[in-house]
Amino acid sequence: FSVWSQVPMGPADPILGVAAQFKADPSTQKVNLSIGAYRDNEGKPVVLESVKRAEQIIKERKLDNEYLPVEGLQSFIDASIKLGYGDAYYAQNGKSIAGCQVLSGTGAVRLGFEFAKKFLPQGTKVYMPNPTWPNHHNIARMAGLEILEYRYFDPKTRGVDFSGLVEDLSKAQNGSVILFHACAHNPTGCDLTTAQWTQLLDLSKQKNFLPFFDMAYQGFTSGDVNKDAEAVRLFTKQGVPIVLGQSFAKNMGLYGQRTGCLSFVCANQSEKDKVVSQLKLLARPLWSSPPLHGARVADIILNTPELNQLWLSEVKMMADRIQYMRVSLANTLKNLGSPHDWSHISKQIGMFAFTGVGPDHVKELIAKYHIYLLSSGRISIAGLNEGNVKYVAEAFHDVTK
Ligand code: PLP
Repeated sequence: FSVWSQVPMGPADPILGVAAQFKADPSTQKVNLSIGAYRDNEGKPVVLESVKRAEQIIKERKLDNEYLPVEGLQSFIDASIKLGYGDAYYAQNGKSIAGCQVLSGTGAVRLGFEFAKKFLPQGTKVYMPNPTWPNHHNIARMAGLEILEYRYFDPKTRGVDFSGLVEDLSKAQNGSVILFHACAHNPTGCDLTTAQWTQLLDLSKQKNFLPFFDMAYQGFTSGDVNKDAEAVRLFTKQGVPIVLGQSFAKNMGLYGQRTGCLSFVCANQSEKDKVVSQLKLLARPLWSSPPLHGARVADIILNTPELNQLWLSEVKMMADRIQYMRVSLANTLKNLGSPHDWSHISKQIGMFAFTGVGPDHVKELIAKYHIYLLSSGRISIAGLNEGNVKYVAEAFHDVTK
């Protein structure tokens, strides 16, 4: 007998499970297209030059390892808010934005949902795109929020099902929380156009929605952090009180450092102070105080003009390499004589592509070619490089012939 004998084995996380399978595969040809982490042209993880320089500065400053306040490193929070909302909006309204440092994008969504559960009227529902990053569902469930879905992807066009989206959100209860991916939608790689965002902005105003923007990939869509924040800025410019979750995992490559920011647009400074006080009360029993190192790195990069320029160029470099690999994969498949149209791969954006291959194809790609991807057919383009793109294209061609 053991106290824990009744504990059942839990299922592996759908994304992390595939990554573990990849690690255990001894093949020398194996390719990991499962995890959303940037890789260079040799398939290696990248520490950005801007991050290395910021870490050098931290070292030279001989700083201590004392706790951060519950709400986090204030200069990092301010810089993060400025990056998300834009300089002009920040200059005018920064004083009424409540910000809190969180454990990366996951922590932003979790703390935001906890806050929604506590302070929105009982029974308020959260609408998520179908499909979405699967962890969104876990987080909402853990926070005790009821989840509903809105249509997002149309498998026929391999693009956004915008009429379905509008139809579903038009039927949503007034005051619902609507989760949007601010840019680089995961897993579909399909974003909304400016005209579509504008239409959603009108609908949000009409129905008093609380738009919750999860911005985990700012810069990864266009290579330009300002362009990628377009939706956030469209809504805030019109005075919509949004919630914004920001992660520096991808755009600064600070994955394991858990660097992020959660912010709320408030009506004024006194409302902002109250919201921050409550965010602190929620964060204290969750993690007590957020991680220090990544926040220092991001703070230095965002607040040192020369390092900021370097970082922006590195974001562009990452986005450009991904775009190049998209085109390369789609073209190679075409040149191999594939009977299918793969142009959606080069049209989609961000880190991921929804290839359209089915679960049986995925099984074959893993078993025969040691190419690891999600059963949904989602691949991380960052895992492609000039050394493996031909091999991957040949494998995709073979299993879909
Ligand atoms: N939100 C979305 C849409 C994501 O794709 C991810 C990561 O894959 C996250 C949030 C959270 O990332 P992290 O907690 O590593 O910042």
